[in-house]
Amino acid sequence: MIPVCPYKNPITDEGCQFTPEPDPALRGEWATIYCEFHRPLGLGDFRGPPKREWSEDMVDGFNNKIFNFINEKIQDGERIDLSGVEFPGYISFNSIDFRHAKSLNIIGGNFFGDIDFSNVYFGCDVDFQKSYFREYSNFRGAQFLGNACFDSVNFLGGVDFSKGNKATIFHKTATFFSTNFYGERVSANFSDSVFLETVTFRAQFHNVSSFIRITVKSDADFCECVFAKDSFFCESEFNACADFSRINIYGTLDLNSARFYGSAEFLSIDCCGLMNFENVIFFNKVDFYNTKMIRGTNFKNTTFFGIPLFSIEKIHETIDFGVAIFKYVGADATLAYTRLRHLMAERRYHPQEAMFFALEKRCERKKYRWYQFNFWISALYDWTSAYGSSMGRPVIWFILLFVLFMGIYGLLITSNEAAVGVFHGDFLDFLANLAGFTVEQITRPFAIWSGKYQPLMEAARVALENDGFLIRVVSSFQSVVSLLLLFSLGVAVRWRFRRA
Ligand SMILES: [Zn+2]
Repeated sequence: MIPVCPYKNPITDEGCQFTPEPDPALRGEWATIYCEFHRPLGLGDFRGPPKREWSEDMVDGFNNKIFNFINEKIQDGERIDLSGVEFPGYISFNSIDFRHAKSLNIIGGNFFGDIDFSNVYFGCDVDFQKSYFREYSNFRGAQFLGNACFDSVNFLGGVDFSKGNKATIFHKTATFFSTNFYGERVSANFSDSVFLETVTFRAQFHNVSSFIRITVKSDADFCECVFAKDSFFCESEFNACADFSRINIYGTLDLNSARFYGSAEFLSIDCCGLMNFENVIFFNKVDFYNTKMIRGTNFKNTTFFGIPLFSIEKIHETIDFGVAIFKYVGADATLAYTRLRHLMAERRYHPQEAMFFALEKRCERKKYRWYQFNFWISALYDWTSAYGSSMGRPVIWFILLFVLFMGIYGLLITSNEAAVGVFHGDFLDFLANLAGFTVEQITRPFAIWSGKYQPLMEAARVALENDGFLIRVVSSFQSVVSLLLLFSLGVAVRWRFRRA
């Protein structure tokens, strides 16, 4: 009887792919004898110790057989199937040219030592699913020209996909379904990686994970990932939809300076650690539907160019939207800002309530056409005081209009020949009188119609007698506008300093 390797591929159900070499010594009482490649690490035989106790020379011999197998397959243009191989120790694939490989399958592989795929060009699809990487795995600078599958892989000693000779690039899809990332300090390092197509992580990161400066050109799916420790996405760039829904964060999710060019989704995040959105720019809509911000979330300098959807029940008291920048004012965002205004009202954060009120009204204004009365009332209220939320705007307008009206009165009076003859004094006197006259129009609205204009300068009186109607109309207009501006200032002060 020739012993046949009992290995079965868990996915394809195929048997041993290696040519069984009949070995007379292996006949006999052994019911099932694994081939050299599939023999489990702990299983010895009467010819030597178990694989996990092999010397370096023995490991090198084993590795050379693997390399020969790979090179033969590449030459013959066949797929490379190393599924189920139990690798006894350190192995480096640097010397192998995978550029012309048809495909590389290492389904259910078991790597006992460190492995090194750094700077390797995979010119084909690679499939590592269900493999165990027991020590440090080095994929730095690897180039995946085909699809890369790391589903159900266990990286027990940490894995490094960061920059090697150049950045690691996934040219086709990359999937990490049910992948477990362990590791002593950093469980997964994807810094500077580039994903040209969709990348899917449904993974568990048991230690720190780094996605610093990654670029994802298509959809990025991090749904349901578990981040047990801090995870860093600083300066990363997402060009299509980025989905972080239902993730579990136990440390800090640091997105500092990330760029989201597509929509960003942070839905139903339940167990919420710290989220840092400092300097993040959302160029499209961002959705926090049903996410519980039970711990602080930092929105300092976060810029929202799209609709910010915060349909959330509760918001932590330290979350400050006053430091964020909301740029989107489309009519479709009205409700989004109403929701935020309500959240702020519940928290009695009046300045931020006022800010969202202004944004809400600005969105609402988009519903009117420019010739409608509502449009202009709304626009004027916005320009002069940002809907009662700005204290600076009414003051500046007040001063500008005061100077403007002084100019108008000055022109009206000096253009009246009779009035010019009446006034005696130099230019400064004239200005002082003019200012007094202008102030009076504010403090005593419509008094000018009564004819009792007494500390009014004589010249103005004469001018009034001649040119009265025009000055009276201007004065009335000034009164109304100035009082409205002062009222706006009052509203803004009230928003800002209202007791909680
Ligand atoms: Zn076998």
